[in-house]
Amino acid sequence: MTTLLKRGSRGAAVRSLQKLLSEYGASPRLLIDGDFGPATEAAVRSAQGRLELVVDGIAGAQTMTALRRATEPVFAGRAEPDKAAMQERVSGAPADQVSAEAPPNVSALNLLGTARPVSEIIVHCAATPEGKDFTVDDIRAWHKQRGWTDIGYHYVVYRDGRVMTGRPVGQIGSHVAGRNTGTIGIAYVGGVSADGRTAKDTRTERQRSSLLWLVRELVAKHAGVRKVTGHNQYAAKACPSFDVSLDQLGAIV
Ligand SMILES: [Zn+2]
Repeated sequence: MTTLLKRGSRGAAVRSLQKLLSEYGASPRLLIDGDFGPATEAAVRSAQGRLELVVDGIAGAQTMTALRRATEPVFAGRAEPDKAAMQERVSGAPADQVSAEAPPNVSALNLLGTARPVSEIIVHCAATPEGKDFTVDDIRAWHKQRGWTDIGYHYVVYRDGRVMTGRPVGQIGSHVAGRNTGTIGIAYVGGVSADGRTAKDTRTERQRSSLLWLVRELVAKHAGVRKVTGHNQYAAKACPSFDVSLDQLGAIV
């Protein structure tokens, strides 16, 4: 049986909940005092909204599980290497320049608009091994295992350069703890060496040109975008296995 934590609850369980909420980016900062007051309730509501759960301000089993999964340091079921495992080139000289080219599926691609304010585009990798193809449906299934209702990214770039839509851009994504509001998450398939162990910039030339094209289109479409960053700028992760700030992508805005 799970205890429902709600307004008036006290003790160690509330303290654990408050820690999870803080890790998930509760704003304003939450006091870890084991006392479920109005601030904790507001943080639960905000987290429930971002996690696409029923927003009732009460933390039961579903909310706790979703919070734990969302704050796990690694991709569930897939090893996401930490920064220390990144290969040389990540911090070294930028790779050769590519030109933005429309993806091969451009005629079928509809980049939706949104009234949701977007100020930043955050780049990810799917943390999948080099040379292997994975689909939006594959990634969606992994993310659903984490308790989310849909894939966490808004766009996914396949190895052949096709740009696929993930979660509708009008919905807040689930891709960077504490930074999903106001951002668009895009991921390329790959990001890990063929042995599945080492973070590696595995972008194919087609992926690099499609990523460049996609980010330019998104910047043009969402007037509020002020920067393009990588997941590793916000977490001790290698994702997207290169330094966006040294890449052409980081220079678009
Ligand atoms: Zn990521």
